[in-house]
Amino acid sequence: MLVVMQEGATEAQIQKIVGRLMEDGFDVHRSSGVVHTVLGGVGGKSHFDTGIISVMDGVKEVHRIVSPYKLAARAFKPEGSIIKIGDVEIGGDKVVVMAGPCSVENRDQIERSADIVAEGGAKIMRGGAFKPRSSPYSFQGLGEEGLQMMRAAADRRRLLVISEVMDAVQIPLLAAYSDILQIGARNMQNFTLLRELGKIRKPVMLKRGPAATVEELLLSAEYFMSGGNYDVILCERGIRTFENYTRNTFDVSAIPVVQKLSHLPIVGDPSHGTGRRDMVPSMARAAVAAGADGIIMEVHHDPDHAFSDGAQSLFPEQYYELMGQLRLIATAVGKSI
Ligand code: PEP
Ligand code: MN
Repeated sequence: MLVVMQEGATEAQIQKIVGRLMEDGFDVHRSSGVVHTVLGGVGGKSHFDTGIISVMDGVKEVHRIVSPYKLAARAFKPEGSIIKIGDVEIGGDKVVVMAGPCSVENRDQIERSADIVAEGGAKIMRGGAFKPRSSPYSFQGLGEEGLQMMRAAADRRRLLVISEVMDAVQIPLLAAYSDILQIGARNMQNFTLLRELGKIRKPVMLKRGPAATVEELLLSAEYFMSGGNYDVILCERGIRTFENYTRNTFDVSAIPVVQKLSHLPIVGDPSHGTGRRDMVPSMARAAVAAGADGIIMEVHHDPDHAFSDGAQSLFPEQYYELMGQLRLIATAVGKSI
């Protein structure tokens, strides 16, 4: 940790900081410049709250040098993680596409969805059976029946399945039917749920919370990994900003940021990232160009009558066209779909 003292900080203030750092096990190295004194704290607790120092008298700023997450940090696996599920690899030089409806609605819809998803060349089918809806009166999902239907449809077209787990009690059910367990944006900081998912040995995909920083996303990923579940995929799905033309602001820059800070694969979700079907293709293209390890997007055979997220669901033809474009962009950045 680096503590930069204010111009004119007194010796007593400096000594107080030195003492406080030593109390927590830091070795303190002092460098007195003409204007500022800088204190370097080495060792000590990795989870030390730097805020304690930043509010002490005479302190200008405090910088953490060691990242607060360890297992999710790039340094833990500099070559990057590849998550293998059957013959699908997430990470490395592939761009994996996950596509499907927002929700599983009925057997006919999910069977049609499987055909559309497979036709376009995606390897993984998405679809929620437990839906986190802003209103309790909106469609909440079909639960286990929906999972059964999706598994059958996906198996028929040899697709993998990703579906959301909203609560710890649903984990056994999701683990039985789904190849990847999705943790929704609203649950990114549901630490009890994250800890429970650290105990299973199934891939999880963690979506970034609408108001979460990348550091917070990586700290949440650390919950799975510290429990022994290393098969973690991250997902940028848009954050809440003051812009309200789109549902969320799709943070494309989070993709290279995550890749610099972490070895975990990062997937872009342009559907929730924009909330608008007319903006999804451009943001999907941007995510692949930015180096995303995958894309998750919503597609529906009849989006105008979808039970949830119809406005951001692509028509099948749009999805087919977009897949062709994503293949070209993937090639341009040295990857393949
Ligand atoms: C979803 O994938 O349908 C979903 C609810 O996503 P998010 O958690 O990102 O809002
Ligand atoms: Mn959705």
